[in-house]
Amino acid sequence: MKKALSILEFHEQVTSGNLSILEHTAKILEEAKKANKEFHHFNLMAEKEAMQRAEQLEKLLKQKKANGKLFGVPVSVKDCICVKGMESTAGSAILKGYNPLFNATVVEKALQEGAIIIGKTSQDEFGFGTFSNNVGLGFEKPKNPQDAERSCGGSSGGSAGFTAFTKFTHVSIAESTGGSIACPASFCGAFGFTPTYGRVSRYGLIDYANSLDKIGTTSQSIQDSALLLEAIAGKDGKDSTSLQEKVEDYSKLLNEKSKNLRIGVVKEFFGKGIDKQVSEKCWNAVKKLESEGIKYEEVSLPLNAKYGIAAYYLVAMTEASTNLARYCGLRYGQSLELEGNFDEFFSKTRTEFFGEEAKRRIILGTFARMSGFRDAYYLRAMKIRTLLIEEFQKAFKKFSLLANPTMPIVAPKFSEIEKLTPLQNYAMDLCTVPANLAGLPHASIPAGKSEKEKMPIGLMLTAAHLKEKELLQASQFLEKVMS
Ligand code: GLN
Repeated sequence: MKKALSILEFHEQVTSGNLSILEHTAKILEEAKKANKEFHHFNLMAEKEAMQRAEQLEKLLKQKKANGKLFGVPVSVKDCICVKGMESTAGSAILKGYNPLFNATVVEKALQEGAIIIGKTSQDEFGFGTFSNNVGLGFEKPKNPQDAERSCGGSSGGSAGFTAFTKFTHVSIAESTGGSIACPASFCGAFGFTPTYGRVSRYGLIDYANSLDKIGTTSQSIQDSALLLEAIAGKDGKDSTSLQEKVEDYSKLLNEKSKNLRIGVVKEFFGKGIDKQVSEKCWNAVKKLESEGIKYEEVSLPLNAKYGIAAYYLVAMTEASTNLARYCGLRYGQSLELEGNFDEFFSKTRTEFFGEEAKRRIILGTFARMSGFRDAYYLRAMKIRTLLIEEFQKAFKKFSLLANPTMPIVAPKFSEIEKLTPLQNYAMDLCTVPANLAGLPHASIPAGKSEKEKMPIGLMLTAAHLKEKELLQASQFLEKVMS
């Protein structure tokens, strides 16, 4: 899919004086601004800030002080990740007007590596969705760059949409709770990379579900994702769930010929409920990897296939309903005239500013953790989660990677999405939620287009905890054989 210069190529051009950071930034902003009228990939464009930053970096370049893995690279940031001074709403009307006083750790790290933040990308409200159609009240839905009648996927729809759209060097910092990076990457034809839970700090992320949220990347090439990941990963004193393990030089290790990669093709995710065009393309992609010396065999994950969706939605909604309790109209974002007692004020504010899906999740999540129901729903879902992780661990004794279609369908039209019931909608996450529940690193890699709709199809590869290197290597092999 690569159309633009990769980050490494961009740096070569910049340091040899063939490319001006200032001009490149101006051009991508112009492109994004124009496209935003139709495609709505951004909730906010940071034109002024980006141009000032570009000027600053140009100066450093002239003084021979250019340095950093992302030096001069335009980076977009999903709206749920806080950027100092830039309205950060997580796509929700209730957070309108909230301008963080601090940067999320990932943003801080990207800036230290010379990134230029160009804006905040559109998403489902708080990440609640699969199609970026559940945007907050007053927000626009992002549209698929391949066909504007179709969804970008969700919830990081704007990140993947713009990544696939732009002709310039660009990466996006996205977030996944249950598949929100892989899904839109697959629908738009971008690379989506979700690291191990805890590999990247969540400090400054507006939470959806704390035990599931992971910050990751969308990019035009695997190598760009590897560079961005290297820049943002690592232990952070401000996030106690972030992992100690040393961050590897992913981008340098990419080209090492990795030995003995074995892929397990997940049987259940190639059968019932999966569009035939999708499963065929994904099988072909796996077979092509054989030419790189990667062996494959079928594997079965019956528990994940049967219970993944139910366990995921129970855990996710329970955590979400607690997280959303902080939006009471007093601390952040929008507020109404203060009147009545607290309960009345709280209900009125939330009724006014939360969208339909957020309300649905608050109600279901609260129910699942209420006394009397907690054991039957939330705690049972947690026990199942452990069983699902064990099933994965067993598979990883034999295989280094697991493969399946990222999504069961190609990007649907908005008119088709409207006809789905909430349950049918949730069922679309069949293949992505298991790896997310288990906190496993996974990637969605473009694996061709459907014959009928000519829409992108993504193959999802999943690795064991902290095996980011192997995952990136295999993804790059796939990128090579698919291009
Ligand atoms: N579609 C899933 C959900 O609605 C995943 C979303 C996400 O990862 N943020 O919960």
